[in-house]
Amino acid sequence: MNWESYLRGLEEKSLKGEITQGDLLKLAEVPTEYLPLMVYHAGKVKKYFFGNEIEFCSIVNAKSGACSEDCKFCAQSRHYNTKVPVYTFLEEEKILKGAEFAQKIGARHYSLVLSGRSASDREIDKMGYSAQRIKEKFPKLKLCFSAGTLNGEQIRRLKEAGFNRLHCNLETSESFFPKIVSTHGWRVRYETLLRAKGLGLETCSGGIFGLGETWEDRVDLALTLSKLEVDSIPLNFLIPIPGTPLEGQQILSPREALVTIAIFRFACPKAELRLAGGRERVLGDYLGMANFMVNAHMVGGYLTRAGRDPQDDRKMVDGIGLKLL
Ligand code: SF4
Repeated sequence: MNWESYLRGLEEKSLKGEITQGDLLKLAEVPTEYLPLMVYHAGKVKKYFFGNEIEFCSIVNAKSGACSEDCKFCAQSRHYNTKVPVYTFLEEEKILKGAEFAQKIGARHYSLVLSGRSASDREIDKMGYSAQRIKEKFPKLKLCFSAGTLNGEQIRRLKEAGFNRLHCNLETSESFFPKIVSTHGWRVRYETLLRAKGLGLETCSGGIFGLGETWEDRVDLALTLSKLEVDSIPLNFLIPIPGTPLEGQQILSPREALVTIAIFRFACPKAELRLAGGRERVLGDYLGMANFMVNAHMVGGYLTRAGRDPQDDRKMVDGIGLKLL
């Protein structure tokens, strides 16, 4: 196997939109000494469409815990005994404070995230009102929402209120999804994304890795998101949460995480890849290396865990010469 010509070929096929399942699956076998070359070619794909720019995004957990669903990785499911805070819709002022913090740490996108399978009409009203207030006070922030599976009318109202982007993770391949979630199907998430696209909203959808899925599942998800032409793909890495069914799961190695990121980069050259939950612990010393393949980092903390100091992320991207948007 000539790994140099294979990796160069991946870059060329990616730029032409001709990548195949077989091309991507082969990446799982890339020898350790070729990892820097893999990052180099994936980085060239990123640079071709996005230059040396990178951005931060930030989220607020606007409704936490007590979720009816049983996603095996999630601290917020009421099926599991975790120590996550439980509250209904966060006070308006706290949501605004989150927006202020997002702007202060240099985030370009700010997302309101609600636990639960979907949102009630009352919650949609509250989200809409929050969006209007955030837009008034922080007009530069782009607004996203993540509220499970929504119908067209709910999505339309949120768009009218000022949200730019809908987030709904597919999490993993359609075939592996039932091993992780039994209370709803993968399709309802997929259809929510289709509805948002049909209504002209930007879409953000990715997954979580390290659930016990295979390389085929990762490639399958990457190709699905490529076909869907989502604007943004968050990549999360499982950090097992005590009390959940996956509490004993081994975390991915930095090597597996880097290869996973490269798979998504080559499969979805025009999508913004964002490193999200688990990035610090799973990538460890190799987080900086991943910078070259991605467009964004989620900074300032995650839904149920604190993140690292945003200043460290700032230093990481400034120090390497990337341009923070
Ligand atoms: S991932 Fe979302 S839907 Fe699944 S248990 Fe967690 S909050 Fe509920």
